[in-house]
Amino acid sequence: LDLNHLTEAEAAQRAAALRPQLLQWGKEYYENDQPSVPDAEYDQAYNQLVQLETYFPAIVTPDSPTQRVGGQVDSEFTKVPHPIPMLSLGDVFSADELNEFVVRLQKDYPAVQEFNCELKIDGLSISLRYEQGRLVQGSTRGNGVIGEDITANVKTIASIPQRLSRPIDIEVRGECYMGKDAFLKLNERRELEGKATFANPRNAAAGSLRQLDPKVTAARHLSTFMYNVADYDDLEATTQSGLLAELKELGFSVDPDYQVAHTLDEINAYIEKYQAQRDQLSYGIDGIVIKTNSLALQTEIGHTVKVPKWAIAYKFPPEEAHVKIDAIEWTI
Ligand code: NAD
Repeated sequence: LDLNHLTEAEAAQRAAALRPQLLQWGKEYYENDQPSVPDAEYDQAYNQLVQLETYFPAIVTPDSPTQRVGGQVDSEFTKVPHPIPMLSLGDVFSADELNEFVVRLQKDYPAVQEFNCELKIDGLSISLRYEQGRLVQGSTRGNGVIGEDITANVKTIASIPQRLSRPIDIEVRGECYMGKDAFLKLNERRELEGKATFANPRNAAAGSLRQLDPKVTAARHLSTFMYNVADYDDLEATTQSGLLAELKELGFSVDPDYQVAHTLDEINAYIEKYQAQRDQLSYGIDGIVIKTNSLALQTEIGHTVKVPKWAIAYKFPPEEAHVKIDAIEWTI
């Protein structure tokens, strides 16, 4: 995309063509759990829109997919407000872009000296609310501000504790996913039954969790890894890595593969290690998440309407064999 040779009007026209396409793909992905294009194709179109809007800020519209967390709330579910929004993540696709992110962050916040590297689990975000240590509500991310009530469904997931090791009030966030074995078996069974198969474990997990009948969810063998909380008031942790250890103590399932890094070399070594091991993991990952380790700095750095500014996702190259180069036929 040669931004230097575009006029603002041309950029606006291109952006206006991309937005409905992205919204349509988002609807298929988030609401129907049945994407019609590979993620890489969506990502490519999305990034073109980001580039256009970054270069020509005046063309941004408030309803642009770049300005809100993807996903809507299915009207069949009870709505759950998220007073502390559930955000998405900014992403980068190369070592250079990652380098740029880290350099810029440390320039703006020189106190950022430590990062926590985590696997980016390919599932869907959930939020679990506990009162006095008892599970009282489970919800999906939805549009980030309003999610869907899936309390009965999350109660069927073995890795989610009904009661914590301490009687605290807390809202814990993380990823619900379907392991590779469970995914293959589910698709095999669906094929035998003549039903549509799921495109990938992420969509299988979403389709299994967003069910009005919790018995369906119970039969689908979902798993979870928790990695975040809505607020830290009742916790002792002061770092992201400490938070993960504390969540484990409270009874949650936490992915053990996280690692603290101090330099870009250490971050890159982590990325290389898990990119190479990706196929051997029993669950899908689509990248690595690099987070500012200090929780106080996370709060200070803050977030945009859509993503935290203290973290970034490094997305792995697509596994799909064929990716179309251009997602949209330009009309200009
Ligand atoms: P995302 O999946 O790229 O990243 C944000 C999410 O990562 C978080 O909300 C969280 O659920 C998850 N995550 C996993 N591990 C995490 C960890 N350790 N720490 C923090 N978060 C972690 O963003 P998104 O907004 O959920 O979805 C956008 C992506 O969905 C696109 O990049 C695209 O690949 C895909 N998508 C595809 C289509 C399609 O048609 N194929 C349509 C829409 C979106």
